[in-house]
Amino acid sequence: MLAEIITIGDEILIGQTIDTNSAFISIQLNQIGISVVQITSVPDNISHITEAFTNAENRASVIIITGGLGPTKDDITKQALCSFFNTKTVFSSEVMKQVEFLFTSRGLKMPETNKEQAMIPENCVPLKNSYGTAPGMWFEKNGKVFVSLPGVPYEMKNLMEEEIVPRLKAKFKTPYILHETVLTQGIGESFLMEIISEWEESLIKENIKLAYLPEFGKVKLRLSQTGENFSELKEKAERKINELIKLISEYYYGRNEEKLEEVIGKLLKDKKMTLATAESCTGGYIAHLITSVAGSSEYYLGSVVAYSNMIKEEQLNVSKSLLDSEGAVSKPIVEQMAIGVQKKFNSDFAIATSGIAGPAGGTEEKPVGTVWIAIAYRDGVFSQKHLFGKNREKNIKQSSVTALNMLRKILLDY
Ligand code: ATP
Ligand code: MG
Repeated sequence: MLAEIITIGDEILIGQTIDTNSAFISIQLNQIGISVVQITSVPDNISHITEAFTNAENRASVIIITGGLGPTKDDITKQALCSFFNTKTVFSSEVMKQVEFLFTSRGLKMPETNKEQAMIPENCVPLKNSYGTAPGMWFEKNGKVFVSLPGVPYEMKNLMEEEIVPRLKAKFKTPYILHETVLTQGIGESFLMEIISEWEESLIKENIKLAYLPEFGKVKLRLSQTGENFSELKEKAERKINELIKLISEYYYGRNEEKLEEVIGKLLKDKKMTLATAESCTGGYIAHLITSVAGSSEYYLGSVVAYSNMIKEEQLNVSKSLLDSEGAVSKPIVEQMAIGVQKKFNSDFAIATSGIAGPAGGTEEKPVGTVWIAIAYRDGVFSQKHLFGKNREKNIKQSSVTALNMLRKILLDY
């Protein structure tokens, strides 16, 4: 079963709005065994819109459209649908009641322009939009389904979950698509590929597809399968994933949507231990990751963003003579920073970073991307030098996830 998504709106084509609707719809369709074969974005222009409908109809059985349903003049999706289906709009008292209710339930009088929302193409089934005035619309033509949804993401999401997915499941008996993702940190995709090449080969006869998804210091490995029996798919995925984890145990930290900061949070909570951070080149990004996890106050005490040497000395007790002789980006300094913040906050663990994020500031000896990371614990300190890349954002993010993973490994054995 194949689907296409068409998103409508000038704002997408000028880069003002990022098309997140398509990503959400793709996930929803995939979960019920419908594969998306193309995503198209078109401007608020009748001929572009109808041409996209015609092209999609030739390739797919399910066509989901979002955007351009508002009562304002620039929204012309309804007009395009009428022209495509060769029909006209008619008044729907059912939609009118729902639109009126949206206003009266908030004690407001409905503006006249909203009456237009109750005019819908004659051949569609209107679907209730609980959060906005534009109804969803379901069309069927020669066994194919067209669905038109509002562009506002939370309205679209609610309609997908409450109306579209159940209707698609009922109409088409679809196979299951199972995606399982294995998360790794600290190894590049080509090195990973070398380690797992034999295992990867073995996936072919199991009908499992593998994708490498790299992002700032992490690589996700996604296993995908299609089949009629969900528990068989699940069992096969678990078996192959267990084999995989044995091969890459050093780099493996979690599954699916799990985040490194959540993993270390759980470990710290279980051990009833606390953490502090002293960040130079990461500028508080590690603190941001840690505190983005709900409940982090149970184990995270705080941070010193020690950007200048003066703050390193005054707040973290880093030695001035070592700063002068070794430079801020060095093993003794990053270790003193970690120990300094651990003592200051009396935490069980501390992370410290010091590096050259770039683009300027590199030397031959310490090029841009050189980052020292230290983890202090009650009875010692451990540090590592890394060489990342030339890009500032990448260096900050990669340093942060690397530091979290260093802490994770220490916590596992602690
Ligand atoms: P309404 O009835 O509320 O006017 P609409 O169907 O007319 O809904 P649009 O006017 O096209 O929707 O867009 C409404 C809002 O939704 C805009 O802020 C737009 O940026 C956002 N939006 C539209 N399309 C998308 C998309 N594909 N992904 C994410 N956001 C989107
Ligand atoms: Mg629009």
